[in-house]
Amino acid sequence: RSTRGNWHDRPRIGIMGGTFDPIHNGHLVAASEVAWVYDLDEVIFVPTGRPVFKLDKKVTNAEDRYLMTVIATASNPKFTVSRVDIDRPGVTYTIDTLRDIHEQYPQAELFFITGADAVAEIMEWKDAASMWELAHFVAVTRPGYSSPEGAHIPDGKVDTLEIPALAISSTDVRRRASSHEPVWYLVPDGVVQYIGKHGLYLQ
Ligand code: ATP
Ligand code: MG
Repeated sequence: RSTRGNWHDRPRIGIMGGTFDPIHNGHLVAASEVAWVYDLDEVIFVPTGRPVFKLDKKVTNAEDRYLMTVIATASNPKFTVSRVDIDRPGVTYTIDTLRDIHEQYPQAELFFITGADAVAEIMEWKDAASMWELAHFVAVTRPGYSSPEGAHIPDGKVDTLEIPALAISSTDVRRRASSHEPVWYLVPDGVVQYIGKHGLYLQ
C-alpha cells in the first residue's frame, strides 16, 4: 500500500541519495513530502560512497553515515536504507545508483529525489541521457528558490517541489557540533546522541 493508501500496478519507489554527513530533518521532510505528493510506496535512502562533487572535502566514514541514516529513518515504515553506494568501490555516480536499484526492483517506477541546486549539474552527470529512462527526477527547493532551468534539461523530465521552510544543512549541523552549539531538533534525537557518543565533527 502506498503513502495515500492506494494500490498501484507497479511499485512506486523514491530514491533519496545524499552524503548524509549527517542526515538531518530537511532530508526527512523532503522525503516525506515527495512520498506524499507522488504517492510512493517506499523511499530508499542511499548514503553515497565517495561523492563525486565532494572529492576535495573530508567526509565522515561511510559506516557512521550509514548508521545515522538507519537511526533517523527506523521509525518510518516506508523509509529504508540501501548500502549499494557505500558497498560499490570508488566514486559514486548517480547512474550506478539508479542501475543497481532498478536491478533490485525491476518492476518499480523510480523517483530520484534531489536538491534543485544539484539538478543544475545533472546534465554534466555521467550518462545523463540514460538516467532519464531509469527514473523521474524530483527537484526539491526551499520556498522562494527558483526552479531549475536552462542546463539543457529535457522538458517534463524534472519536476520541482517546494519543501516547507527548512534552512537546515549538514554543513551547518557539522559547524554547530564542532563549536558545541546545539543541534537538537535539526537532526533526529538518535542522531544527536550518535554524534555525541562517537565524537563526530569535533574538529
Ligand atoms: P552539505 O551541507 O554537506 O552539502 P546537505 O545538507 O546539502 O549537506 P546532502 O547529503 O548533501 O545534505 O543532501 C542530500 C540531498 O538532500 C541533496 O539533493 C540536497 O540538495 C537535499 N537537501 C539537503 N538539505 C535539504 C533541505 N533542508 N531541504 C530539502 N532538501 C535538502
Ligand atoms: Mg549539499
